[in-house]
Amino acid sequence: MKEYTLKAQESQVLTKVVCNCCGKEIPLIREGIREEYFHAEKAWGYFSNQDGRQDSFDLCQECYEKMHEGFKIKLH
Ligand SMILES: [Zn+2]
Repeated sequence: MKEYTLKAQESQVLTKVVCNCCGKEIPLIREGIREEYFHAEKAWGYFSNQDGRQDSFDLCQECYEKMHEGFKIKLH
């Protein structure tokens, strides 16, 4: 069982999402609901070329489509 106490100073409210590729802001459809976008997070291992780095980025739908159009093995 989990219990949570909401403390005002610890809560975070998401106010803006920007596409890392084109810089476009992901628009709000209505209060609290944003247009769909792609989000990626990766914690690199210590023996990778990135050596323990943590990356995260967001892409708008257009930039996501451009990204996977370049894949040799296409998404289904
Ligand atoms: Zn974009």
